[in-house]
Amino acid sequence: MSSSINERITTIRSSLPNSVRLIAVTKQVSTEVMRSAYAAGVRDFAESRIQEAASKQVELQDLTDITWHFIGHLQSNKAKKALFQFSWIHSVDNLQLAQRLNQLAQQLGVSPQVCLQVKILPDTNKAGWSPPELLTDLPALNECNNLTIQGLMTIPPAGLDDAKIKSVFNRTREIAEEIEGQNWSNIKMQHLSMGMSGDYKLAVEAGATMVRLGTILFGDRSV
Ligand SMILES: *Cc1c(COP(=O)(O)O)cnc(C)c1O
Repeated sequence: MSSSINERITTIRSSLPNSVRLIAVTKQVSTEVMRSAYAAGVRDFAESRIQEAASKQVELQDLTDITWHFIGHLQSNKAKKALFQFSWIHSVDNLQLAQRLNQLAQQLGVSPQVCLQVKILPDTNKAGWSPPELLTDLPALNECNNLTIQGLMTIPPAGLDDAKIKSVFNRTREIAEEIEGQNWSNIKMQHLSMGMSGDYKLAVEAGATMVRLGTILFGDRSV
C-alpha cells in the first residue's frame, strides 16, 4: 500500500511542471497513509473539515514542516479555529467571511494566505463569488490588511465536458490577470488553486499553480 502511494505521488509529481504545487487532499485518509505521503515527499496537506483536521494535526505533530491548507466551506463560527490550524485557506467564498477572518487574524497576530473562491458558472452546490460580484467587492477586500490574498480558487460544476472545464479554468486565469492589472495594494494574484483528480491536467494547461489532488493519490474514498 505505502509503496503504491509512493509510486503514484512520484509519477504525478514528475508529470507536473516544477512551478505547480501539489496539494494532497487527505479528507477521510488515515494518518498512517498521510505518513506514507509525507515519506514520499509531500509537505502540503489539505483538509475540508476543521474537526477531522484537528485530530490528525495532533497525531502528526512530529511532522513539523507540513503546510496545512483548508479547502472546505468555512462557517463563520469556525473561522478562529481555521486560523489556528491552517496557514492557507483556499475557500474564502464571501466578503463577510473575509472580513471576519481579517478581524480574527489581527487579534491573533497571524496573516493567513488566502485564495478567493470564484464561481465562473452558476452552481447551486457551491459557494463563491461570481466574477461581477468579486470585482465589486475588491475595494473592501483590499482593506483586509491582515489577510495575504494570494489568488483565486475555483471548482467547475460537475458534469461538464473537457472543453467547458478548460474554459472555466481559462476564465479564472483571465479574471486573476484583470485583478492583477488593477494594482491593488493588498490583493495579489500570484496563485491559481484549480484542478482536482479528474481535471488537473486541464487546470495546469490553463495556468494552475496549485492542484488539489485526493482520489488520484489515495484512491476512491467512497469505497
Ligand atoms: C475533495 C476535494 C478535492 C480533491 O478531489 P479529488 O477528486 O479526490 O482529487 C479538491 N478540492 C476540494 C475543494 C475538495 O473538496
